[in-house]
Amino acid sequence: MHLTDTEKRAISSKKTFTDQEKRGKIRELDLEVWNSFATPLAKHDKPTIAYRCLCPYCSLEKPKKNKQSQTHNLTAWVYHHTNGDGLGFYCAACKAKHPRVYDFLGKGSAAAEEYAWKRFEIDAVGKGWYCPYPQRWNEISALNRQRKAAQHKAKDALRKRENQIAYALREKEALKAAKPRTTPGTKGSCSVSKHQAARERKRFASRPARVLKNTENL
Ligand SMILES: [Zn+2]
Repeated sequence: MHLTDTEKRAISSKKTFTDQEKRGKIRELDLEVWNSFATPLAKHDKPTIAYRCLCPYCSLEKPKKNKQSQTHNLTAWVYHHTNGDGLGFYCAACKAKHPRVYDFLGKGSAAAEEYAWKRFEIDAVGKGWYCPYPQRWNEISALNRQRKAAQHKAKDALRKRENQIAYALREKEALKAAKPRTTPGTKGSCSVSKHQAARERKRFASRPARVLKNTENL
């Protein structure tokens, strides 16, 4: 998989930031997005409100009214999240609401992906943050997992084969060591009575020498 420069930089970034530093950087990122969406036109007394602005949606609907008192038309504002991270947009007139920049940019869009990579770089994505992991990161890590699994499988197969060979060799050695020994089971396993055994011994001793000689040669 080909990685873009942004992705490479974000993945290889070794910088670590404190939570406060991360939040400061997210504010910068978010302000950049909101500034281009709705230009800051006035401040607000409330510290949670970053700035007041014209609502792009309302302005589109009523372009003529914009010529009146501009302050009156500042129906929207960009605000700081008190319980989250970054900034959101809200218009009191049309009730347009964009609490999270990532959602505003639109999941799957190039802008959202770029934003997610910037946040990935400062380790401010995923659980607990207002931005998910970049979609491409999920693909990259899935690919890495597949690659690792394939490597693991190949390693396992090799180990199995080695074990099989080692086992076969041990068997061969054991067989070699066992060969000179008499085959087990022939000694004392037959049910011949003492009397029969004595008779057999006698018969064996009295057989012709020629036969004995042949037997020795076997
Ligand atoms: Zn509006």
